[in-house]
Amino acid sequence: MNRRDFISGAAVGGVVGIGATAAVMTSMKDAPAPKVTEAPVAAPAVVKDRIELAMVTTWPRDFPGLGTGAQRFAERLQAMSDGRIQVQYFAAGERVGAFDSFDEVASGNAQGYHAADYYWKGKHPGWAYFTAVPFGLTYTEMNAWIRFGGGQELWDELGAEFDIKGLMCGNTGVQMGGWFNKEINTADDLKGLKMRIPGLGGDVMAKLGASPVSLPGGQIYENLVSGAIDATEWVGPWNDQVMKFYEAAKFYYYPGMHEPGSMLAVGLNASFWSSLSPSDKLLVEAAASMENDVMMSEYNAKNGASLAQLINNNGVELREFSDEIYDSFGRASDEVFSEVVAHSDLAARIHASFLKAREEVGGWTNISDQAYVAQRNRVLGL
Ligand code: CA
Repeated sequence: MNRRDFISGAAVGGVVGIGATAAVMTSMKDAPAPKVTEAPVAAPAVVKDRIELAMVTTWPRDFPGLGTGAQRFAERLQAMSDGRIQVQYFAAGERVGAFDSFDEVASGNAQGYHAADYYWKGKHPGWAYFTAVPFGLTYTEMNAWIRFGGGQELWDELGAEFDIKGLMCGNTGVQMGGWFNKEINTADDLKGLKMRIPGLGGDVMAKLGASPVSLPGGQIYENLVSGAIDATEWVGPWNDQVMKFYEAAKFYYYPGMHEPGSMLAVGLNASFWSSLSPSDKLLVEAAASMENDVMMSEYNAKNGASLAQLINNNGVELREFSDEIYDSFGRASDEVFSEVVAHSDLAARIHASFLKAREEVGGWTNISDQAYVAQRNRVLGL
């Protein structure tokens, strides 16, 4: 969608209409009244406060969940402001490549991105914590850490080094472990595998002898089918079925140790963010927070049915990672985390805060959600 198409949308059209009406009414107080059929009438009261927000993303256009969620956020923010905040949305490749989104916003060329912040771990490993890390937090645990456990403050401190202000704006929930073209019975079976897996999860796989690569979503399928990679993780059944990975890899493993509740983010250019009025900041926060909730609801609503289709219609073999493999993931994760902590004082403080949340909130999860669901499903035979 180009800019012309976008601004012809209903929300903006409504504002133009209101502005034009106001201008005509104003003109009627004056004499002589100008002909209203002349050149388009300016709408100064609206134009004066109009805010342009160019938003780049790491997702293909209309990609279920990640892409549609980002688009929903953009449309919602524009609608919530009655079109005063105009969000010009660019899917991956429409303005810059997926992984160039960060620099586009940090530099001020665009005002915001929607992405998974762990894509930027090469710039600072702290970014990984604000999507998901191995043996990390689930959706509800993540929200608790970010909102009440000091997570947002550390995210802001990290973002300030790059002129980025991050806000929670979506979550996939627990991700699947990935697609493999052979069974993974022991950790040794991971050796030599070329696997698409970003973030610190990729570093864990490297410790176990695999070769992790980071590819944007739009390039995974072709690499898997061509044999350039042997395995991939992406998200979960709903998204992965759309990607048709089952055409090249039949074994679908769970649960993913690497992304237990991947938070998506809106990253705003810090100068742009600080230029907003307090009420506009609240609007942006409200629109983002709503998407954080809505996206998670959509994933939870759709993953189960999609998994059944993958198994029943697409010939997928569902497999669970063994305890032995999980133990190996755990040991490798410890090594990766020790390297992260050594990176910088800020990385160490982010990790320490994360550990505290994992222990406190995760401990509560153990006797609340986990204990209840285990008993419910045992009694009901689910
Ligand atoms: Ca993933």
